[in-house]
Amino acid sequence: MVKILDLVKPGVLYGDQVTKVLNHAKEKGFAIPAVNVTSTSHINCALEIARDINSPIIIQLSNGGAAFFAGKGLDNKNQQASILGAISAAEHVHRVAKEYGIPVIMHTDHCAKKLLPWLDGMIKEDEKFFKKNGKPLFSSHMIDLSQEPLKENIKIAKKYLKKLDKMKITLELEVGVTGGEEDGVDNSGVENKRLYTQPEDILYTYEELLKISKRFTIAATFGNVHGVYKPGNVKLEPKILNNCQKYIEKELNLKTKKPVNFVFHGGSGSEPEKITEAIKYGVVKMNIDTDTQFAYTNGIVNYVNEKKSYLKSQIGNPEGSESPNKKYYDPRVVLRTGEESMKKRLELAFKQLKCLNKN
Ligand SMILES: [Zn+2]
Repeated sequence: MVKILDLVKPGVLYGDQVTKVLNHAKEKGFAIPAVNVTSTSHINCALEIARDINSPIIIQLSNGGAAFFAGKGLDNKNQQASILGAISAAEHVHRVAKEYGIPVIMHTDHCAKKLLPWLDGMIKEDEKFFKKNGKPLFSSHMIDLSQEPLKENIKIAKKYLKKLDKMKITLELEVGVTGGEEDGVDNSGVENKRLYTQPEDILYTYEELLKISKRFTIAATFGNVHGVYKPGNVKLEPKILNNCQKYIEKELNLKTKKPVNFVFHGGSGSEPEKITEAIKYGVVKMNIDTDTQFAYTNGIVNYVNEKKSYLKSQIGNPEGSESPNKKYYDPRVVLRTGEESMKKRLELAFKQLKCLNKN
Protein backbone atom coordinates (compact mmCIF):
# COMPACT_ATOMS: atom_id res chain seq x y z
CA MET A 1 0.00 0.00 0.00
CA VAL A 2 1.29 3.47 -0.89
CA LYS A 3 2.36 5.51 2.13
CA ILE A 4 2.64 9.30 2.37
CA LEU A 5 6.41 9.07 2.71
CA ASP A 6 6.52 7.22 -0.63
CA LEU A 7 5.04 10.40 -2.12
CA VAL A 8 6.78 13.20 -0.21
CA LYS A 9 9.63 13.81 2.22
CA PRO A 10 9.33 14.91 5.87
CA GLY A 11 9.28 18.68 6.45
CA VAL A 12 7.07 21.52 5.23
CA LEU A 13 5.35 20.62 1.95
CA TYR A 14 4.70 22.92 -0.99
CA GLY A 15 3.45 22.83 -4.57
CA ASP A 16 2.55 19.44 -5.99
CA GLN A 17 3.57 17.74 -2.74
CA VAL A 18 0.52 19.31 -1.08
CA THR A 19 -1.76 18.26 -3.92
CA LYS A 20 -0.36 14.73 -3.88
CA VAL A 21 -1.00 14.31 -0.16
CA LEU A 22 -4.52 15.76 -0.32
CA ASN A 23 -5.44 13.66 -3.36
CA HIS A 24 -4.01 10.57 -1.68
CA ALA A 25 -6.16 11.26 1.40
CA LYS A 26 -9.27 11.61 -0.76
CA GLU A 27 -8.48 8.44 -2.65
CA LYS A 28 -7.79 6.40 0.49
CA GLY A 29 -10.70 7.81 2.49
CA PHE A 30 -9.08 9.80 5.25
CA ALA A 31 -8.66 13.49 6.14
CA ILE A 32 -5.80 15.38 7.74
CA PRO A 33 -6.38 17.34 10.95
CA ALA A 34 -5.60 21.07 10.71
CA VAL A 35 -4.74 22.38 14.15
CA ASN A 36 -4.94 26.04 15.09
CA VAL A 37 -1.89 27.09 17.09
CA THR A 38 -0.96 30.21 19.02
CA SER A 39 2.43 29.27 20.49
CA THR A 40 5.45 27.04 19.97
CA SER A 41 4.07 24.85 22.75
CA HIS A 42 1.01 24.11 20.55
CA ILE A 43 3.15 23.55 17.47
CA ASN A 44 5.54 21.15 19.18
CA CYS A 45 2.64 19.29 20.75
CA ALA A 46 0.92 18.92 17.36
CA LEU A 47 4.11 17.71 15.68
CA GLU A 48 4.79 15.27 18.52
CA ILE A 49 1.41 13.58 18.31
CA ALA A 50 1.54 13.44 14.50
CA ARG A 51 4.93 11.73 14.80
CA ASP A 52 3.59 9.26 17.37
CA ILE A 53 0.54 8.54 15.20
CA ASN A 54 2.84 8.35 12.16
CA SER A 55 0.75 10.61 9.93
CA PRO A 56 0.98 14.05 8.30
CA ILE A 57 -0.50 17.13 9.97
CA ILE A 58 -1.63 20.62 9.01
CA ILE A 59 -0.54 23.49 11.26
CA GLN A 60 -2.49 26.72 10.88
CA LEU A 61 -2.78 30.17 12.39
CA SER A 62 -5.77 32.44 12.51
CA ASN A 63 -5.29 36.18 12.22
CA GLY A 64 -5.63 36.65 15.98
CA GLY A 65 -3.56 33.55 16.72
CA ALA A 66 -0.76 34.92 14.58
CA ALA A 67 -0.84 38.26 16.41
CA PHE A 68 -0.65 36.39 19.73
CA PHE A 69 2.27 34.37 18.39
CA ALA A 70 4.22 37.58 17.79
CA GLY A 71 3.25 38.85 21.25
CA LYS A 72 0.35 40.72 22.80
CA GLY A 73 2.72 43.62 23.48
CA LEU A 74 3.11 44.42 19.80
CA ASP A 75 0.89 46.87 17.98
CA ASN A 76 -1.19 45.20 15.27
CA LYS A 77 -1.79 48.35 13.27
CA ASN A 78 -1.91 47.48 9.56
CA GLN A 79 -1.76 43.79 10.55
CA GLN A 80 1.95 44.04 11.33
CA ALA A 81 1.85 41.73 14.38
CA SER A 82 -0.34 39.17 12.59
CA ILE A 83 2.05 39.15 9.64
CA LEU A 84 5.10 38.82 11.86
CA GLY A 85 3.56 36.13 14.08
CA ALA A 86 2.52 33.95 11.14
CA ILE A 87 6.00 34.25 9.63
CA SER A 88 7.65 33.46 12.94
CA ALA A 89 5.46 30.38 13.45
CA ALA A 90 6.16 29.14 9.92
CA GLU A 91 9.89 29.61 10.42
CA HIS A 92 9.72 27.59 13.62
CA VAL A 93 7.86 24.79 11.82
CA HIS A 94 10.43 24.81 8.99
CA ARG A 95 13.21 24.49 11.60
CA VAL A 96 11.78 21.57 13.54
CA ALA A 97 9.40 19.61 11.27
CA LYS A 98 12.12 17.47 9.70
CA GLU A 99 13.37 16.46 13.14
CA TYR A 100 9.94 15.03 13.88
CA GLY A 101 10.19 13.11 10.62
CA ILE A 102 6.71 13.96 9.34
CA PRO A 103 5.26 15.87 6.39
CA VAL A 104 3.62 19.14 7.48
CA ILE A 105 1.34 21.50 5.61
CA MET A 106 1.87 25.04 6.87
CA HIS A 107 -1.32 27.02 6.46
CA THR A 108 -3.06 30.24 7.45
CA ASP A 109 -6.78 30.35 8.33
CA HIS A 110 -9.73 32.67 7.51
CA CYS A 111 -8.81 35.97 5.91
CA ALA A 112 -11.83 38.21 5.38
CA LYS A 113 -11.82 41.19 3.02
CA LYS A 114 -10.83 43.68 5.69
CA LEU A 115 -7.89 41.44 6.69
CA LEU A 116 -6.44 41.19 3.18
CA PRO A 117 -3.41 43.34 4.19
CA TRP A 118 -2.49 40.38 6.46
CA LEU A 119 -2.48 38.00 3.49
CA ASP A 120 -0.60 40.56 1.37
CA GLY A 121 2.10 40.80 4.04
CA MET A 122 2.51 37.02 4.23
CA ILE A 123 2.64 36.72 0.44
CA LYS A 124 5.44 39.29 0.39
CA GLU A 125 7.38 37.07 2.76
CA ASP A 126 6.55 34.01 0.62
CA GLU A 127 8.06 35.81 -2.35
CA LYS A 128 11.25 36.63 -0.45
CA PHE A 129 11.53 33.08 0.82
CA PHE A 130 10.83 31.71 -2.66
CA LYS A 131 13.57 33.82 -4.22
CA LYS A 132 16.06 32.50 -1.70
CA ASN A 133 14.97 28.86 -1.37
CA GLY A 134 13.00 28.05 -4.52
CA LYS A 135 9.93 27.29 -2.40
CA PRO A 136 7.40 29.36 -0.43
CA LEU A 137 7.33 29.85 3.35
CA PHE A 138 3.70 28.70 3.59
CA SER A 139 2.22 25.63 1.91
CA SER A 140 -1.18 27.25 1.62
CA HIS A 141 -3.26 30.26 2.62
CA MET A 142 -6.99 30.69 3.10
CA ILE A 143 -9.02 33.59 1.80
CA ASP A 144 -12.55 33.96 3.15
CA LEU A 145 -14.77 36.27 1.14
CA SER A 146 -17.90 34.29 1.88
CA GLN A 147 -19.53 37.46 3.21
CA GLU A 148 -19.26 38.97 -0.27
CA PRO A 149 -21.48 38.05 -3.23
CA LEU A 150 -20.19 34.88 -4.94
CA LYS A 151 -18.97 36.63 -8.11
CA GLU A 152 -16.97 39.11 -6.04
CA ASN A 153 -15.64 36.28 -3.86
CA ILE A 154 -14.38 34.33 -6.86
CA LYS A 155 -13.05 37.38 -8.68
CA ILE A 156 -10.79 38.33 -5.78
CA ALA A 157 -9.88 34.69 -5.08
CA LYS A 158 -8.72 34.28 -8.68
CA LYS A 159 -6.53 37.35 -8.40
CA TYR A 160 -4.85 35.87 -5.33
CA LEU A 161 -4.61 32.38 -6.78
CA LYS A 162 -2.73 33.84 -9.75
CA LYS A 163 -0.21 35.40 -7.39
CA LEU A 164 0.10 32.29 -5.23
CA ASP A 165 0.41 29.95 -8.17
CA LYS A 166 3.68 31.57 -9.20
CA MET A 167 5.08 30.15 -5.96
CA LYS A 168 3.07 26.93 -6.15
CA ILE A 169 1.08 27.81 -3.05
CA THR A 170 -2.35 26.24 -2.55
CA LEU A 171 -5.38 28.45 -1.88
CA GLU A 172 -8.29 27.50 0.35
CA LEU A 173 -11.45 29.51 -0.10
CA GLU A 174 -14.85 29.52 1.49
CA VAL A 175 -18.11 29.27 -0.41
CA GLY A 176 -21.20 29.52 1.75
CA VAL A 177 -21.05 30.81 5.32
CA THR A 178 -19.74 28.91 8.33
CA GLY A 179 -22.09 29.72 11.16
CA GLY A 180 -21.08 30.94 14.59
CA GLU A 181 -21.77 33.60 17.13
CA GLU A 182 -21.74 36.38 14.59
CA ASP A 183 -23.62 34.73 11.78
CA GLY A 184 -27.06 34.20 13.32
CA VAL A 185 -27.35 30.42 13.11
CA ASP A 186 -30.60 28.98 11.81
CA ASN A 187 -31.53 26.09 14.09
CA SER A 188 -34.58 24.92 12.25
CA GLY A 189 -32.59 22.47 10.11
CA VAL A 190 -34.19 23.77 6.95
CA GLU A 191 -31.75 24.08 4.09
CA ASN A 192 -30.81 27.68 4.03
CA LYS A 193 -28.85 29.43 1.33
CA ARG A 194 -26.27 30.94 3.59
CA LEU A 195 -25.30 28.01 5.80
CA TYR A 196 -25.64 25.36 3.14
CA THR A 197 -23.60 25.75 -0.03
CA GLN A 198 -25.44 25.27 -3.31
CA PRO A 199 -24.02 22.84 -5.93
CA GLU A 200 -24.21 25.51 -8.66
CA ASP A 201 -22.00 27.78 -6.57
CA ILE A 202 -19.39 25.07 -6.15
CA LEU A 203 -19.45 24.28 -9.86
CA TYR A 204 -18.95 27.97 -10.68
CA THR A 205 -16.09 28.20 -8.17
CA TYR A 206 -14.46 25.01 -9.41
CA GLU A 207 -14.60 26.01 -13.07
CA GLU A 208 -13.39 29.55 -12.50
CA LEU A 209 -10.45 28.63 -10.27
CA LEU A 210 -9.37 25.78 -12.49
CA LYS A 211 -8.74 28.39 -15.21
CA ILE A 212 -5.87 29.64 -13.02
CA SER A 213 -4.55 26.60 -11.14
CA LYS A 214 -5.48 23.18 -9.81
CA ARG A 215 -4.02 24.07 -6.42
CA PHE A 216 -7.11 25.00 -4.45
CA THR A 217 -9.40 23.54 -1.82
CA ILE A 218 -12.94 24.60 -1.01
CA ALA A 219 -14.50 25.10 2.40
CA ALA A 220 -18.10 24.45 1.44
CA THR A 221 -20.60 24.82 4.23
CA PHE A 222 -23.08 22.15 5.17
CA GLY A 223 -24.40 23.60 8.41
CA ASN A 224 -20.98 24.05 10.01
CA VAL A 225 -20.60 26.31 13.00
CA HIS A 226 -17.46 27.56 14.68
CA GLY A 227 -17.34 26.77 18.37
CA VAL A 228 -19.10 24.13 20.45
CA TYR A 229 -22.76 24.48 21.36
CA LYS A 230 -25.26 22.28 23.06
CA PRO A 231 -26.19 19.21 20.99
CA GLY A 232 -29.00 19.78 18.52
CA ASN A 233 -27.99 23.33 17.72
CA VAL A 234 -25.87 22.27 14.79
CA LYS A 235 -27.40 20.28 11.99
CA LEU A 236 -24.69 19.02 9.69
CA GLU A 237 -25.73 17.78 6.26
CA PRO A 238 -22.60 16.24 4.68
CA LYS A 239 -24.69 14.91 1.81
CA ILE A 240 -24.56 18.45 0.45
CA LEU A 241 -20.89 17.79 -0.34
CA ASN A 242 -21.86 14.64 -2.20
CA ASN A 243 -24.50 16.54 -4.15
CA CYS A 244 -21.85 19.09 -5.14
CA GLN A 245 -19.38 16.44 -6.31
CA LYS A 246 -22.03 14.58 -8.30
CA TYR A 247 -23.30 17.81 -9.83
CA ILE A 248 -19.82 18.79 -11.06
CA GLU A 249 -19.11 15.28 -12.37
CA LYS A 250 -22.32 15.40 -14.35
CA GLU A 251 -22.19 18.99 -15.61
CA LEU A 252 -18.56 18.75 -16.71
CA ASN A 253 -18.82 15.17 -17.91
CA LEU A 254 -15.91 14.10 -15.72
CA LYS A 255 -14.63 10.56 -15.59
CA THR A 256 -12.87 11.08 -12.26
CA LYS A 257 -15.01 10.86 -9.15
CA LYS A 258 -15.05 13.50 -6.41
CA PRO A 259 -13.25 16.30 -8.29
CA VAL A 260 -13.22 18.73 -5.34
CA ASN A 261 -10.95 18.63 -2.28
CA PHE A 262 -13.21 19.88 0.51
CA VAL A 263 -12.30 21.43 3.86
CA PHE A 264 -14.44 20.89 6.96
CA HIS A 265 -14.64 24.00 9.17
CA GLY A 266 -16.16 24.07 12.61
CA GLY A 267 -15.26 20.41 13.18
CA SER A 268 -15.15 20.75 16.97
CA GLY A 269 -18.04 19.04 18.70
CA SER A 270 -19.23 17.26 15.53
CA GLU A 271 -20.77 13.78 15.72
CA PRO A 272 -18.25 11.12 14.58
CA GLU A 273 -20.66 9.66 12.02
CA LYS A 274 -21.03 13.06 10.33
CA ILE A 275 -17.24 13.30 10.12
CA THR A 276 -17.02 9.84 8.55
CA GLU A 277 -19.73 10.78 6.07
CA ALA A 278 -18.01 14.06 5.15
CA ILE A 279 -14.75 12.22 4.45
CA LYS A 280 -16.61 9.83 2.17
CA TYR A 281 -17.74 12.84 0.13
CA GLY A 282 -14.28 14.32 -0.37
CA VAL A 283 -13.30 16.18 2.81
CA VAL A 284 -9.49 16.00 3.03
CA LYS A 285 -8.84 18.57 5.77
CA MET A 286 -10.73 19.16 8.99
CA ASN A 287 -10.04 22.15 11.19
CA ILE A 288 -9.81 21.70 14.92
CA ASP A 289 -9.50 24.63 17.27
CA THR A 290 -12.20 24.92 19.95
CA ASP A 291 -11.77 21.33 21.19
CA THR A 292 -7.98 21.56 21.41
CA GLN A 293 -8.24 24.95 23.12
CA PHE A 294 -10.41 23.36 25.78
CA ALA A 295 -8.13 20.33 26.09
CA TYR A 296 -5.01 22.44 26.57
CA THR A 297 -6.57 24.68 29.23
CA ASN A 298 -8.29 21.74 30.88
CA GLY A 299 -4.98 19.91 31.30
CA ILE A 300 -3.55 22.90 33.12
CA VAL A 301 -6.67 23.43 35.23
CA ASN A 302 -6.59 19.82 36.40
CA TYR A 303 -2.93 20.07 37.28
CA VAL A 304 -3.40 23.29 39.22
CA ASN A 305 -6.35 21.81 41.13
CA GLU A 306 -4.40 18.68 41.97
CA LYS A 307 -1.22 20.49 43.03
CA LYS A 308 -2.86 23.52 44.59
CA SER A 309 -1.00 23.19 47.89
CA TYR A 310 2.34 23.11 46.04
CA LEU A 311 1.63 26.20 43.95
CA LYS A 312 0.78 28.80 46.60
CA SER A 313 4.32 29.77 47.52
CA GLN A 314 7.89 29.01 46.50
CA ILE A 315 8.65 27.21 49.76
CA GLY A 316 6.33 25.13 51.93
CA ASN A 317 3.90 22.37 51.00
CA PRO A 318 2.15 19.41 52.69
CA GLU A 319 5.50 17.62 52.90
CA GLY A 320 7.01 20.30 55.11
CA SER A 321 7.14 24.03 55.77
CA GLU A 322 10.66 24.23 54.26
CA SER A 323 10.02 21.99 51.30
CA PRO A 324 10.72 23.81 47.97
CA ASN A 325 8.08 23.89 45.20
CA LYS A 326 10.22 24.73 42.18
CA LYS A 327 9.60 21.46 40.38
CA TYR A 328 5.83 22.07 40.66
CA TYR A 329 5.63 25.67 39.48
CA ASP A 330 8.25 25.50 36.73
CA PRO A 331 6.15 26.74 33.74
CA ARG A 332 7.52 23.87 31.66
CA VAL A 333 5.84 21.40 34.00
CA VAL A 334 2.59 23.36 33.94
CA LEU A 335 2.47 23.85 30.15
CA ARG A 336 3.42 20.24 29.55
CA THR A 337 0.20 19.16 31.30
CA GLY A 338 -1.66 21.31 28.73
CA GLU A 339 0.31 19.67 25.92
CA GLU A 340 -0.37 16.15 27.20
CA SER A 341 -4.10 16.87 27.36
CA MET A 342 -4.12 18.51 23.90
CA LYS A 343 -2.23 15.52 22.49
CA LYS A 344 -4.98 13.20 23.71
CA ARG A 345 -7.65 15.31 22.01
CA LEU A 346 -5.63 15.44 18.81
CA GLU A 347 -5.18 11.69 18.90
CA LEU A 348 -8.97 11.39 18.92
CA ALA A 349 -9.15 13.74 15.91
CA PHE A 350 -6.62 11.62 13.99
CA LYS A 351 -8.73 8.54 14.82
CA GLN A 352 -12.01 10.14 13.76
CA LEU A 353 -10.42 11.30 10.52
CA LYS A 354 -9.00 7.80 9.91
CA CYS A 355 -5.57 9.40 9.65
CA LEU A 356 -3.59 6.70 11.47
CA ASN A 357 -0.25 5.32 10.38
CA LYS A 358 -0.39 7.01 6.98
CA ASN A 359 3.31 7.87 6.71
ZN1 LIG B 1 -13.16 28.13 9.97
